[in-house]
Amino acid sequence: MFPQSELVIETGKLVHNWKFFRRFQPNSQIVPVLKSDAYGHGLPQAALALEKAGADPLAVFNLGEAEVLRQSGLRASIWVLEGILPCDLAAAAHLQITMACWSFEQAEALAACARREKCHCKIHLKIDTGMSRLGFLPGQIPEILNVLQSVPELELTGCFSHLAVSAEAQHPLTLQQLQNFRQAVSLLPDSCSERHLCATNGILNQLAPELPFARLGIGLYGYSDEPGFASQLQPAMTFRSRILSVKELPEGSLVSYSGLYQLPEAGRLAVIPVGYADGYPRLLSNRVEVLIRGKRVPVRGRICMGMLMADAASLPDLQPGEEVVLLGRQGDECISAAELADKAGTIAHEILCNLGKHPNRRIGD
Ligand SMILES: *Cc1c(COP(=O)(O)O)cnc(C)c1O
Repeated sequence: MFPQSELVIETGKLVHNWKFFRRFQPNSQIVPVLKSDAYGHGLPQAALALEKAGADPLAVFNLGEAEVLRQSGLRASIWVLEGILPCDLAAAAHLQITMACWSFEQAEALAACARREKCHCKIHLKIDTGMSRLGFLPGQIPEILNVLQSVPELELTGCFSHLAVSAEAQHPLTLQQLQNFRQAVSLLPDSCSERHLCATNGILNQLAPELPFARLGIGLYGYSDEPGFASQLQPAMTFRSRILSVKELPEGSLVSYSGLYQLPEAGRLAVIPVGYADGYPRLLSNRVEVLIRGKRVPVRGRICMGMLMADAASLPDLQPGEEVVLLGRQGDECISAAELADKAGTIAHEILCNLGKHPNRRIGD
């Protein structure tokens, strides 16, 4: 039985996008960022497709995600960017991950656990170069090196930071963060060689192409803040449904909750069984379009929990069961997550994560 609505993921497109980004930093490893269920695309499936294409290492946020990857048979290195709580150190050692180390308290607690349980772990120092999230301030580097020197169980193999405004190469904060990162790196031993700073926009803007690694998140899924590259990226997520009912209405009819939209003349609406419970933002009410028969048609009135109405006045003989695309391509037309994000006042990342939780997700090549 075909579900009324389904979310379709094509992992081959993730591989295409990963290869595309390698061109910008040909001397670096491009590390896929697969946090949050691979931005809604399916963590194990995305990881295995990328590993098969040669990606190694892969990055996730937490230990639960690393465990899913190992249970799926992933052999590549796994970086846990959010780091771990010290109580999980034995599990982390068992999963053979590399994890972020981001404060003195965490480092000392990890060290105590590592000594007690005799487990060996690789760590990357997280440096706070200006985002005020996790990490050591550059001035704290000598002191943390001192702490780590006495703990051979914690092997310092790398360091990283994250940019706050990477879409703007010349932004003062970007320049400051680049400078802070270089300063911190100059204090670290050569053995701390797995250095990484850039995410998608930083890679495209070639902010630090000399570093051996960069972390690719949103670009992997087919999006970036650089509009010039949109045509060369392949969004991997499609969300589609089928028309439930087609309805003729008289002039002046009020549509959906609160009657936000009134038909200016007699018209035809297509009722589509998709709503905000599907992860499709209610904020798109009255301001978004969907694709039917390869044409853009506007959504009218409030988006409900499980239904929305599209204006089908321009589509004669429309039948229940015809395909509706809410995200992705139909014929020559395409609706991107960037477009939905723009209209909903958010970013493509959030659109993908929310739609990605859809119960009828079908992941293929
Ligand atoms: C999410 C995240 C990324 C990926 O960022 P994109 O902008 O999606 O490429 C990279 N590094 C860290 C630390 C992150 O949290």
